[in-house]
Amino acid sequence: MRQWLRGVWDGIYTALVGMNITWRHLFNTNVTLQYPEQKWVLPPKSRMRLFMKYEDCIGCGQCARACPVHCISIKAEKRAAGSPPVWAADGTPIKLDVKVFDIDMSLCCYCNLCTYPCPTNCIYMTPEYEFATTNLNDHFYRFAKPDAVLLTVNPKPPAAPAAPAASAAGAPPAGAPPAPQAPPAAPAGA
Ligand code: SF4
Ligand code: SF4
Repeated sequence: MRQWLRGVWDGIYTALVGMNITWRHLFNTNVTLQYPEQKWVLPPKSRMRLFMKYEDCIGCGQCARACPVHCISIKAEKRAAGSPPVWAADGTPIKLDVKVFDIDMSLCCYCNLCTYPCPTNCIYMTPEYEFATTNLNDHFYRFAKPDAVLLTVNPKPPAAPAAPAASAAGAPPAGAPPAPQAPPAAPAGA
C-alpha cells in the first residue's frame, strides 16, 4: 500500500513539474498572434514583394545590373521610328520599348539594391508578404505590358524662363532709359 501511494504521488508530482512552464505562461501577456486572423504591423521600409510600375520604366537596366543574384531580366529596344514621344510620371522621356521585364522572386534575397539606382523610382518593395506558394513558377513575375497606356504628354515640362524681376525700390529694369528729371524750382519773388 505504501509503495502504491508513493507511485501515485510521484505521478502527480512529475506532472506538476512538467506543467510548470505551462502554468507560468498561462498568466503572462501573449507574445504570439493568431495568424492569419491577426497580423503584425510591419515596420517602415520593410522589404517584401517587389513591384515594378511598367508605365514608368525607361528600360535603362540599372536595376538588373545592381542585382547581386541576377534575378531581373530585361529586354528593351529602341522605340519604333515615328512613334509618339512618351514620358514616365516624373517627366523622364521613355526612349526604349521594354519588351521583357521579369523578376524571379524565388531567387530574390530582398536586399533592395535594385530600387536605389532606378531613375524613375518605378521599382520598389511593397508591404505584401503573403505570397507563399507550392509552385515555384508562381514566383516568376512578368511586368512587361504590351497594352500599357503611356503618357503622351510630358507631366513635368521644363519651366519657362523667369521674367526679369522688378526692383523692390521701384528702380527701372536694367537697360531701360533713365526717367526724366523734374525742372528746377523757380526763384522766390520771380
Ligand atoms: S531585392 Fe536584391 S535580390 Fe531582389 S531583385 Fe532586387 S537586387 Fe535582386
Ligand atoms: S532601373 Fe527603373 S527605369 Fe531602369 S530598367 Fe529598372 S525599373 Fe526600369
